[in-house]
Amino acid sequence: MPEIVTERPVVGISACLYDCPVRYNGKRFDAVSKLGRERADFRFMPVCPECMAGFGVPREPIHLTGTGEEVLAGRAKVVTRRGRDVTDQLVAGATACVDALVRAGVRVAILKEESPSCGLFKTRVGSHREREVRASGVFGAMLAQTGWFVFSDAAFDSPLAWWDWRRRMHAWLWLADRPIATNGELADAWHVVKFVVQETRRREADEIGRAIANLPRHAAAEELEAIRSRILDALRAPTTRARALAAMWKSYAYHRKRGTLEGVDLHDLTVRSPEVRRNATQLAEELIMLERISFENDLLFAASPVLYRERRRVRARDEALGRDEGRKE
Ligand code: SF4
Repeated sequence: MPEIVTERPVVGISACLYDCPVRYNGKRFDAVSKLGRERADFRFMPVCPECMAGFGVPREPIHLTGTGEEVLAGRAKVVTRRGRDVTDQLVAGATACVDALVRAGVRVAILKEESPSCGLFKTRVGSHREREVRASGVFGAMLAQTGWFVFSDAAFDSPLAWWDWRRRMHAWLWLADRPIATNGELADAWHVVKFVVQETRRREADEIGRAIANLPRHAAAEELEAIRSRILDALRAPTTRARALAAMWKSYAYHRKRGTLEGVDLHDLTVRSPEVRRNATQLAEELIMLERISFENDLLFAASPVLYRERRRVRARDEALGRDEGRKE
């Protein structure tokens, strides 16, 4: 069974992805609607560093003379189309957004890729944004330094990408909050999340497993925290589409092999044999639905090690199953 958490994650998000018309030309994207009913599983906190910088809408587009990291280190600048240096304003706007996210209790954020401010893994650099670099924009670089779980809107590109990011995000939040004071507690936590790291970063998973096994008998708090940090880093690192697809297929085939769906109300979901190969989108949608059905029926299914479920649903399920023990809040 996956771990069930009932605290709804607060997710920081580039405001233009949340249907707010704040881009330099007044445009917006309704990216979150792609999540369908899963949208209700999160509370969103939209922020726009360029608006908080005082640039207004519409505004002159800006460009970077280097990466966001270089801007923060004072080695590059933020310049408007007409050549005005607005570095200090944008850094102040980005800082104000981070402060707002901290006040909202945010530790997870989704950013608009390729923006000079919000870009996370890809940003365009140069007076005509002519160079695409594998680096962050100014706000993206600032959030990357927080150690939070930050990912880009590429996660909305397909149900497969979303399934992969979402399960790592819930596992990351769960592990970040879990009290770990002993070797045994660290080993138990690793046992819950390790299959995700094994599927996405095999070598790192093997090394983490060895590091836990090699801990002294009563490891110091710093030694335990160092390994926790390593697991958190592995969970938030991006993976490839091929690895995510292989992991999803393995979960699905395992679930079918166990035959745990017999006699279960599948809510009109047609579940086919794992021998029938089909597209990743369909498979991801089925898996996300199967996770909900498995939760309702208390079935052994762990495509995701940690799932969020509304508190009232957990209570209703526990009452139906005759349980009265508390769940993690
Ligand atoms: S600064 Fe970020 S939130 Fe604001 S419009 Fe640009 S990408 Fe969107």
